[in-house]
Amino acid sequence: MIVMKFGGTSIGSSDQIKKTVNIIKSKLSEDPIIVLSAVGGVTDLLLKSFSLAINKGVIDYSEVKEKHLLILKDLKLPLNLLDNEFLDFEKNLDILKNIKKDNLEILDNLLSFGEKCSVKILSSYLTLFGIKSRYYYSYDLGMLTNSNFGSAEILSETYELLEKSISLLNKNYLSVITGYIGQNKEGKITTLGRGGSDYSASIIAAAINAKRIEIWTDVDGVMTTNPKIVKNAKKISEISFEEASELATFGGKILHPKTILPAINKNIPVCVLNSFNPEYKGTIVTKNNNKKELTAISYKQNVSLIKIKSTRMLYAHGFLMRLFKVFDDNNISIDLISTSEVSVSLTFNDFNNLNEVISKISEFGKVDLFENKSIISIIGQKLKYESGFVSKITGILAKEQVNIDMISYGASEINICFVVDDADLEKAVLVLHKELFEI
Ligand code: ASP
Ligand code: MG
Repeated sequence: MIVMKFGGTSIGSSDQIKKTVNIIKSKLSEDPIIVLSAVGGVTDLLLKSFSLAINKGVIDYSEVKEKHLLILKDLKLPLNLLDNEFLDFEKNLDILKNIKKDNLEILDNLLSFGEKCSVKILSSYLTLFGIKSRYYYSYDLGMLTNSNFGSAEILSETYELLEKSISLLNKNYLSVITGYIGQNKEGKITTLGRGGSDYSASIIAAAINAKRIEIWTDVDGVMTTNPKIVKNAKKISEISFEEASELATFGGKILHPKTILPAINKNIPVCVLNSFNPEYKGTIVTKNNNKKELTAISYKQNVSLIKIKSTRMLYAHGFLMRLFKVFDDNNISIDLISTSEVSVSLTFNDFNNLNEVISKISEFGKVDLFENKSIISIIGQKLKYESGFVSKITGILAKEQVNIDMISYGASEINICFVVDDADLEKAVLVLHKELFEI
């Protein structure tokens, strides 16, 4: 068995759905299970309808409706195919309109319609096309999560539940399953976080011990860096699980950061493929990667950096623990840390309660805040073997007059991170790529 996940652009139009069906057809002998995102752009549109309902008391989901109706029409599917979904959606908007308050529980319910509609469309079209198919909501098959609406985490029993129910599905039908969504123990719909369908696919693959996970997207694979900044960015043919997860965590947008974990646990290769260029080989993420090379440069913008200096406290027992507790209490996740005898530097993404947090940590020492920073992460096995790499990089950046605020050498030994000004980011990525990857 294999799991094939198609992202929003791969089912973004009737033409693209036809191509996707052909891709699926070519893999039927491998016994695929299909996992889908919402039709491209739909999740954003659903969010827009949500905001309109709570902020303005207006019910408007015409764009979502039109997008789906156009696809139904072009694919010659019944135009009333999604009427029940639209009706349900409208009911939710109506509730929101009246309560006029942010409600993550209702939001997740609303967002689930994107995937609920897409699986129904694809499955109906496959059947029309002669491939008998059925669609399923992942939670009906056992995708059980905690109640962290908006970014839920699966419960451990999910794997067993999925394995059991998928093994009972009728093999004469191709199964199309919703990505992104799950359900908590009370039966409330949850979502796994934006872009979470990749994660759904890898959870399902791990549950059924799939031979391979195919993530079908709209680019040729994982690139050495963002091709929007660096024209000469190259496709990476092979990358290790470890490298791919560093890459996803530090800004590489191709795979959802959690995707790799279930795949690692079961040692299932993940292929990143392009549905606009299906013959192309893409990138394969596997356990093995002995290449002593550099793999990629990724980055994360809009981070803030805090430096805390304290001669008194740093030696004190439990200092770091108390410091981290402040961040934890405020639900802020820290990306990088570096400590010296008298100071701690850390980075995190922007958040709302900044002043409160700063005043709390000021109790520990002098606090300096630096905003509008970027983290650049250089990833590759070579970092384990080449000494003097840090000075090479600082040298390259110094020549371009890029100032480095902080350096952090990942515990994994395969990545090294630098904090620079947002304003210097493009320049830094360009020159690093040129000096490290284009020679
Ligand atoms: N449809 C969801 C999103 O846009 C999930 C996904 O695409 O993976 O975030
Ligand atoms: Mg995605």
